[in-house]
Amino acid sequence: MRSIAIVGAGQSGLLAALGLQQAGYDVTVVSDRSAEAIRTGRVMSGQCLFETALSHERKLGLHFWDDEVTPISNLCFSIGDDDFRGRSVTWVSQFEDPPSSVDQRLKMSRWLDEFVSRGGELHIRRADTDDLEKYAAEYDLVLVAAGRGDQFSTLFKRDAENSPYEEPQRALALIYVSTAGDSELPPQVTFNIRHGVGEFYWMPTLSVHGPVYGLCLSGIPGGPLDIWQGITGIDEQWATFESLVRKYFAWDAEPFAGARPAGPMDSLIGRVTPVVRNAVGTLPSGRHVLAMGDTAITNDPIGGQGANNAIHCAVSYLDSIVDHGNGKFDAEFMARCYARYWDHARHATRLCNDLLLPPKDHVLETLTAAQFHPQVANRFAAMFDNPSDYGEWLVEPDTARRYLQTL
Ligand SMILES: Cc1cc2nc3c(=O)[nH]c(=O)nc-3n(C[C@H](O)[C@H](O)[C@H](O)COP(=O)(O)OP(=O)(O)OC[C@H]3O[C@@H](n4cnc5c(N)ncnc54)[C@H](O)[C@@H]3O)c2cc1C
Repeated sequence: MRSIAIVGAGQSGLLAALGLQQAGYDVTVVSDRSAEAIRTGRVMSGQCLFETALSHERKLGLHFWDDEVTPISNLCFSIGDDDFRGRSVTWVSQFEDPPSSVDQRLKMSRWLDEFVSRGGELHIRRADTDDLEKYAAEYDLVLVAAGRGDQFSTLFKRDAENSPYEEPQRALALIYVSTAGDSELPPQVTFNIRHGVGEFYWMPTLSVHGPVYGLCLSGIPGGPLDIWQGITGIDEQWATFESLVRKYFAWDAEPFAGARPAGPMDSLIGRVTPVVRNAVGTLPSGRHVLAMGDTAITNDPIGGQGANNAIHCAVSYLDSIVDHGNGKFDAEFMARCYARYWDHARHATRLCNDLLLPPKDHVLETLTAAQFHPQVANRFAAMFDNPSDYGEWLVEPDTARRYLQTL
């Protein structure tokens, strides 16, 4: 039986592990945390997953939460006006297939237990390059799914051509809250923009505590939402978060009056540097390992693509591995495997990178037209499941304006 070691028990690593296990491979997962530590640990993501990604989990029989999670039926989109009185653009679109959000702590702890109960081998350790050497010597293939950050940045070098940013483009604050009296809000993902300041978005989420709302403030560095340094306690973070929402996104503050953090570990403050890496890493011994998920491509959360991409990556690698039969998992195979995934991921990467810039005139014209033409709003919402439509529709001003003329 062919053996595969996967470093990292997150969205990409565990989905690949469970999929490869089902396909008959001998899989070892290396995780720096046990299932219990993941479940009781800090919140990790907003993880809005769209239909195509969800369908991959369902096909593998691994989406266990369909009966409990709130299907998100609408995208509610707004842009604040320049005099801070209200909104210059606002519309609601319908998702044809509802996305949803399951707390990664809930999902990954369950999946890790599932992997072990199905006979998978689990090593609890924080793997370093020496460990990768050992796994590469012992296993037919090593996948590195250790998430974002710099820990393997020397191994997987930055692909400068596809990485326009060298610094984080947003200061992020994510908090899961329970509303006052657990009142239910519309089942929508709400995305608000305040030009020159940043974004505020929220959605219903099934968390380790049950149903909550996941709220994210995403601030332009140096701006008024970039104030988290030194604010460490979750109550203080929430008080600051709430006052920023009231000041910059006043139209969307009311639903969260009286809300409370859902749990003591339910806030995450940080910054993400968007980066595309060369996914084939060469170890000091000359052996090769292959990066996946955020370790290969990290996008800012603004476009809600990272966890979706992690799933596409896992499924694409799974297909490539199975298609490869008994072939050698050498550097050439790894490069082909990654290229197949990049063909999908490049669209999401472009979308997320562009969303970090002030919207161009033709994009603003499109977002304004969406107020009067539901088909524009619905197409915009569908783009997050099918980011290749962004390139076909909104990158070139002429194409975007030609479409508007057909309305
Ligand atoms: C605030 C915020 C909101 C987001 N919202 C969305 C969204 O709405 N939609 C969306 O699609 N994406 C979203 N994302 C992005 C998404 O969470 C990530 O892209 C996705 O989780 C990446 O999955 P992964 O498996 O690559 O890495 P991770 O989920 O980071 O998993 C990596 C795992 O590896 C483990 N690990 C790390 N180093 C080692 C090591 N050396 N040895 C062993 N184990 C190790 C970690 O503990 C972790 O369990 C958001 C991210 C943030 C920060």
